[in-house]
Amino acid sequence: MSKNGKVFVIPCSGIGKALGTVGRTATYEVVEKLRPNEATTICLPLLTIGDEAILKLTRNNPCISVDGCPLQCARKNIEASEGKLAASFMVTDVLRENRSLKPEAVTELGPKGLKLASILAEKIAAQIDEINKNDR
Ligand code: SF4
Repeated sequence: MSKNGKVFVIPCSGIGKALGTVGRTATYEVVEKLRPNEATTICLPLLTIGDEAILKLTRNNPCISVDGCPLQCARKNIEASEGKLAASFMVTDVLRENRSLKPEAVTELGPKGLKLASILAEKIAAQIDEINKNDR
């Protein structure tokens, strides 16, 4: 685990976009199943509105952004609020590597979309391990 606490995995809001749903699904898989003791998440809008407690946490702990598309709203919000950005992921990159795994819809990813989310979750979990290894 990081010296200061957990790694913050922060997905974009991605409302109305299936790739946003993939990013959030991957994040939940990481914080609830793959690395529950090492990682946690927060609502991105708390950074946007400048919530002081959240700003302090994200400035003192490693953050990983998980964005649905190249607009990278999560990454930009972390950077703009001077969070400790340790790594960033984009669902579009993972989809490019796995072109057959196109999600079905925003509300129902379908088996392919869920598989895409699991692949992304494994990548994020591996990155958390790397961060914690280097942070000791
Ligand atoms: S990164 Fe893309 S999918 Fe995510 S909130 Fe921004 S515009 Fe929407």
